[in-house]
Amino acid sequence: MLQRVLIANRGEIAVRIIRACKQMGIETVAVYSLADKDSLHVHIADEAVCIGGNSAADSYLNMENIISAAVNTGAEAIHPGFGFLSENSQFARLCEDVGIIFIGPEASIIEKMGDKAMAKKLMIEANVPVVPGSDGEVSLEEGLNIMEKIGCPLLIKASAGGGGRGMRVVHHKDDFEKAYYAAKQEAKAAFSHDGVYVEKLITNPKHIEVQILADRYGNVLHLGERDCSVQRRNQKVIEEAPSSLDKSIKEAMYEAAIKAARHVNYVNAGTIEFVVDDTGFYFIEMNTRIQVEHPVTEMITGIDIVREQLRVAGGKHLKYKQEDVVFKGHALEVRINAEDPKLNFRPSPGLIEMLHVPQGLGIRFDSAIYTDYAIPPFYDSMIGKVIVHGYSRLDAIRKMRSTLEELVIEGIPTNQSFLTMILMHPDFVKGAFDTGFIAAHLEGLLTYET
Ligand code: ADP
Ligand code: ADP
Ligand code: MG
Repeated sequence: MLQRVLIANRGEIAVRIIRACKQMGIETVAVYSLADKDSLHVHIADEAVCIGGNSAADSYLNMENIISAAVNTGAEAIHPGFGFLSENSQFARLCEDVGIIFIGPEASIIEKMGDKAMAKKLMIEANVPVVPGSDGEVSLEEGLNIMEKIGCPLLIKASAGGGGRGMRVVHHKDDFEKAYYAAKQEAKAAFSHDGVYVEKLITNPKHIEVQILADRYGNVLHLGERDCSVQRRNQKVIEEAPSSLDKSIKEAMYEAAIKAARHVNYVNAGTIEFVVDDTGFYFIEMNTRIQVEHPVTEMITGIDIVREQLRVAGGKHLKYKQEDVVFKGHALEVRINAEDPKLNFRPSPGLIEMLHVPQGLGIRFDSAIYTDYAIPPFYDSMIGKVIVHGYSRLDAIRKMRSTLEELVIEGIPTNQSFLTMILMHPDFVKGAFDTGFIAAHLEGLLTYET
């Protein structure tokens, strides 16, 4: 088993991972930027190392300093969390080269599945249904040819994409060229790689993803699916498990996800993402890391996914077999962001003057904030997640509403009321929503009192 793990991340996910390590008797090393010296993850780890200045480029993306910190503190493994270096194959390879265990799949697997265009090719090989589109990255000319075949609307997507960036919709043929260069430019700025591919835009789909776990001994299992259709600009806002899909579709998706994982000899936790409409389900990408929304799956299965990641990385067999995985009740997660929805969701870092978190059966608050903590302006605006577990979907919705009503975060604007507006919306309650829900109802969702 692992004895000492370095956590190459910050915020709520760093705290989440440190807690899992402590519960397993594993020592922890936190790393932090100058701006994060008072952060919760620094306080609760056994040891903490400053790895650089405020910007992510200087610190949480600084591979050399992170590897040095691991070597100097005797950490035998690095957990990358999500975002930052979590899907960076160069970093995973660097870890392999210096004999540090990267808690995730091998560098070669990240390479294959992290390039979204390449991943689609592999999925076609594995007989997993994918969204129709180009066969890999395209030049302008090749893209135009694909458009002739599949028609509009279509999407131009960055093969290095993530977090909803590097993506452009084309509704009319004449707009293709402009969108092509815009997507390339955004991809270059965000991911330093400007390759793009083209796929059909599935109109009004649901985003459904399947969580999988795999160990080094060929055992692969799924932990069911999550519905992450409530999105703003292709970024998830509310997630839940299970979804409302028919049992037969769910089962076909589980099978496809396991086939996908087996095809690339996948090891550790991963997620296969699909868009789903009346005609079927289509692979869009695989995330080769722990995801933000993993707690909803933990709530309905009782399985600690980070613990399984640590066990698998330490060379153990998965603790569960497929028949041990049973789903109970319904779980919902909302992402709490330091942002002001009424000012076009402008980030709102600053001092938390007061924090009050309600407690109760089936209520979980994953965050790194505390009273008197100042949220630095340099990183992602997500500051925490509220997760609830209920007997049924309606029960979970009610529990989430009452939890948000009681949650107090004073000092900065957050999206808390905006989230409540979604939870009150009759279409959301009925389950009549798809990835266009927020855009379609935005005006109404912003009518809360401040
Ligand atoms: P997921 O599929 O897990 O939602 P995304 O592709 O949306 O993942 O991106 C990963 C997540 O990582 C984002 O939701 C975002 O909240 C988080 N993230 C990205 N960059 C940072 C950062 N600099 N600090 C904290 N979290 C980040
Ligand atoms: P990222 O790496 O940024 O997470 P994804 O490929 O997972 O990118 O897409 C993000 C979101 O964009 C999806 O959850 C979905 O809402 C939307 N999307 C992506 N591809 C398609 C598609 N072909 N048709 C319709 N919506 C799509
Ligand atoms: Mg995605």
